[in-house]
Amino acid sequence: MYKAEKRMKGELIRKAGNGSFIIPDTPLIPYIEGDGVGRDIWPASRMVFDAAIQSAYGNARKIAWREVLAGEKAMKETGTPLPDETLDTIARCHIAIKGPLTTPVGTGFRSLNVALRKHFDLYTCIRPVRYFEGVVSPVKEPEKLDVVIFRENVEDVYAGLEWPRGSKEAGELIADLKERFGWQIPEDAGIGIKFISEGNTRRFVKRAFDYALKHGRKSVTFVHKGNIMKYTEGAFREWAYHVAREMYGDVIVLEEDLAGGRPPQGKIVVKDRIADAMFQMILLRPDEFDVLVLPNLNGDYLSDACAAQVGGIGMAPGANVGDDVAIFEATHGSAPKYAGQDKVNPSSLILSGAMMLDFMGWGEAARLIELGVEAAVKRGRVTYDLARFRPDAEEVACSEFAREIIQGFPSLR
Ligand code: NAP
Repeated sequence: MYKAEKRMKGELIRKAGNGSFIIPDTPLIPYIEGDGVGRDIWPASRMVFDAAIQSAYGNARKIAWREVLAGEKAMKETGTPLPDETLDTIARCHIAIKGPLTTPVGTGFRSLNVALRKHFDLYTCIRPVRYFEGVVSPVKEPEKLDVVIFRENVEDVYAGLEWPRGSKEAGELIADLKERFGWQIPEDAGIGIKFISEGNTRRFVKRAFDYALKHGRKSVTFVHKGNIMKYTEGAFREWAYHVAREMYGDVIVLEEDLAGGRPPQGKIVVKDRIADAMFQMILLRPDEFDVLVLPNLNGDYLSDACAAQVGGIGMAPGANVGDDVAIFEATHGSAPKYAGQDKVNPSSLILSGAMMLDFMGWGEAARLIELGVEAAVKRGRVTYDLARFRPDAEEVACSEFAREIIQGFPSLR
């Protein structure tokens, strides 16, 4: 913990009766530095957040940061990767931000990211994906993509309900399914359960519509594989349309009712697409899409595909949001081979912080950060990942790039 953190106490964010958050002028916000490159990108990002808040509000607002432990640092200091104290502090503070956490492959503890999502019921993953001028992209017109992906975060085959091949549980389930329903599953199969429920789909879809309305987005598209998986993905589509009609009927228009015509002014167009077709449409006609709403697995895939289309996940921010807690995070991993080198691109965490400030209602500071990142990338003094594709660019360190972003803030006075 930095010395200044002990001195600055901060105030707790509270929840209002209507479910919204009440943000004081000096909110206490816990952060998880993260493993690997977390130690590089966190200090760089924090410098940008503090500078943006200072530029936007002078001394009237300031975040009281409080470090909480998770991952390797927590293992070293407490012997457990996700201490109760970390969970308790995040629960009390409601809003937190985190760097990447390493997940051991095959052995060791399960993903801490999944554990956090489950513990706080962070049922909505939000990933805005847009182009920044100056980033080299594999497509001709990357600027045409500007989407916000809503991925359901706690259900689907991703929920982690699975048993390995040869286990007692897998064997019993295979035998039971055969006996009761006549389902033929090879005896040497591993088994995973896919489930999608009405209640969880409804609350998730509602969040996507609230976001679309608040941010003036033009369309909401449900993406699903309901033609094949009728009672999970197909039902997801049906329930999503129910939410649209029942709760947002006065502000939406269904694509099928437009019959190819232009939507009435101010209305959100609601449509759906089959997932595999969507992967080609988003590449061929990206400007036809805006807010995208998907179940867990396909949401994960489409987020990375979209990020690649605008130059890679190094620039993509993310948030995991529940009813009581929201955690904002870099979408890339801990990239251990670069740890401690002050080398990697901090933009993913920095833009996640901008999302957090926006969520808190501190939109002026969020805009400064977005404009600062835009300006820095355009100027061409960038981290190695962006510099390697641009002969005109100069490679700078992670911390230096953060300073470039701050220099790119437009003057507010
Ligand atoms: P990764 O850490 O994202 O790194 C893969 C590659 O992506 C890096 O070698 C680098 O590519 C590029 N990259 C990642 N972050 C970058 C940044 N900030 N700036 C520039 N380039 C960046 O993926 P991984 O190696 O598969 O995963 C490592 C660990 O992170 C695993 O334990 C995984 O489970 C975990 N992980 C955590 C999260 C999370 O906490 N949310 C998410 C994903 C993965 P080049 O070397 O080609 O430049």
